[in-house]
Amino acid sequence: MSEEKSLNFLEEIVEEDLKNGKYKSIHTRFPPEPNGYLHIGHAKSICLNFGLAKTYGGKTNLRFDDTNPVTEDTEYVDSIQEDVKWLGFEWNNVFYASDYFDQLYAFAVELIKKGLAYVDDSSAEEIAACKGTPTEPGKPTIYRDRSVDENLQLFEDMKVGKYKDGEKILRAKVDLASPNMHMRDPIMYRIKHAHHHRTGDAWCIYPMYDFAHGQSDSIEGITHSICTLEFEVHRPLYEWYIEQLNIFPSHQYEFARLNLNYTVMSKRKLLRLVNEGFVDGWDDPRMPTISALRRRGYTPASVRNFCDRIGVQRRENVIEFGLLEFCIREDLNKSAIRRMAVLDPIKLVITNYPEGQTEEMESENNPEAENGGGIRKIPFTKELWIEKEDFMELPAKKWFRLAPGATVRLKSAYIVKCESFDKDADGNVTTVYCTYIPESRSGSDTSGINVKGTIHWVSAPHAIQAEVRLYDRLFSHENPGAEDNFTELINPNSLQVIPGAYLEPALNDANPDERYQFIRKGYFCLDNKLSTPVKPIFNRTVTLKDSWK
Ligand code: ATP
Ligand code: MG
Repeated sequence: MSEEKSLNFLEEIVEEDLKNGKYKSIHTRFPPEPNGYLHIGHAKSICLNFGLAKTYGGKTNLRFDDTNPVTEDTEYVDSIQEDVKWLGFEWNNVFYASDYFDQLYAFAVELIKKGLAYVDDSSAEEIAACKGTPTEPGKPTIYRDRSVDENLQLFEDMKVGKYKDGEKILRAKVDLASPNMHMRDPIMYRIKHAHHHRTGDAWCIYPMYDFAHGQSDSIEGITHSICTLEFEVHRPLYEWYIEQLNIFPSHQYEFARLNLNYTVMSKRKLLRLVNEGFVDGWDDPRMPTISALRRRGYTPASVRNFCDRIGVQRRENVIEFGLLEFCIREDLNKSAIRRMAVLDPIKLVITNYPEGQTEEMESENNPEAENGGGIRKIPFTKELWIEKEDFMELPAKKWFRLAPGATVRLKSAYIVKCESFDKDADGNVTTVYCTYIPESRSGSDTSGINVKGTIHWVSAPHAIQAEVRLYDRLFSHENPGAEDNFTELINPNSLQVIPGAYLEPALNDANPDERYQFIRKGYFCLDNKLSTPVKPIFNRTVTLKDSWK
């Protein structure tokens, strides 16, 4: 870490704990519930947990918090592992909260024996009615004073499947008058006759988050259990269970979750976008998931850099989507290979260029890299594709590109002068006729002519056809997640498919792991899902400049 960078509040805590000998080394965990794909918010938590351990020579577990059988699935388990690895982190161990079901059951029995837990037959409505309000204490239900023996028997009966869902619950006997509602005899176990993705049908009772999380931390010897702010009110309960069970004292610390504008981030909402067909899967390049960012062409370094820049706060705020785009632009500007591609083509014919001749023009692969990243050869012929938007029949003021009578440089090639043009029946320009200046070849230009505009091009007989996909924000609303009807706020123009773009032939062996700058058009990568050698598909990762209004 650089000298001048100040510590965030968690680094301060860790340094203090190590300095005063509270721990010899630290142990963190990243605890996703496998009920969806990870998103950029999770990336912040991953960078934080793995980052702290890395900085201070500690360890990090990946723990699947799988106590809710209905919503969890191995597809999610697999994707989460892939995403954490892709981000560049290595876990010490993979664990599952379900690994601890026997131990957690034993902990519950222990609390019952201590008179600190009881089986309650009340319905959810009855329990809610007895809970009181923050200013009014709760009332006990008639089951609160059951004997230890009766509770032990009933809890076992719950476990062996004597009861239906919702018929009974196990509650901790904490404090019905606590101003913290989470301390008013919280639920420890509920009955759920459901198949679990790992334990199958072995269990029909499942622990609640609060009864599983802290104990799992403790079993694993987690020193700093870092979670988002909404769990702050759960902390007293986290500590209560650990104290009553007298187990390894893990401690919980909270930080502000990442909120990004123009997107939604809860897995429940993202799942709706997938299930209701608003997007093409969790990795649709418009999604804020890690798999989507990967498919879109984001690099792991750019995501880590983003997480680093936003820092760690104790107060909620909203981060601009543009900052994420800034981070990937900064990375790709240095690393992307430059290529020419024409997305919206019209023909340019050089009338005085010899028919059938091909010249090899030379251009650097990346002017930002050492030695320009090497040189590539680009075939140049009489017939080229250029962008439709680079020609104007009636040029505006300060127009430096092609227009009748105007001159421009064809990037890495010759200066051409527009002599005439053709239109189709609808009045669209289809072909521009130019003459070229043979002495103006790039690198050996003796023409003495200065032109202000340079445009890109692709030799028509050599061009590769490809599909190119351009993306815009998925939502046109700044805070769509706040609205119930968020699916109605989707930006109708968030995906633009260009079926017939023309690419320079060097892109024939485009590599799925490589990122490209299509000169003047943005940063692109091959689509890792749908692209084939026969039909290449390129995704635009981001535009060259922040063009979004
Ligand atoms: P969501 O609200 O998206 O459904 P979650 O909090 O239910 O997410 P978990 O799988 O429980 O998702 O989260 C795993 C870890 O990631 C938790 O420690 C959680 O606090 C953290 N996390 C989730 N969302 C964010 C976010 N937006 N910013 C930072 N950390 C997050
Ligand atoms: Mg959750």
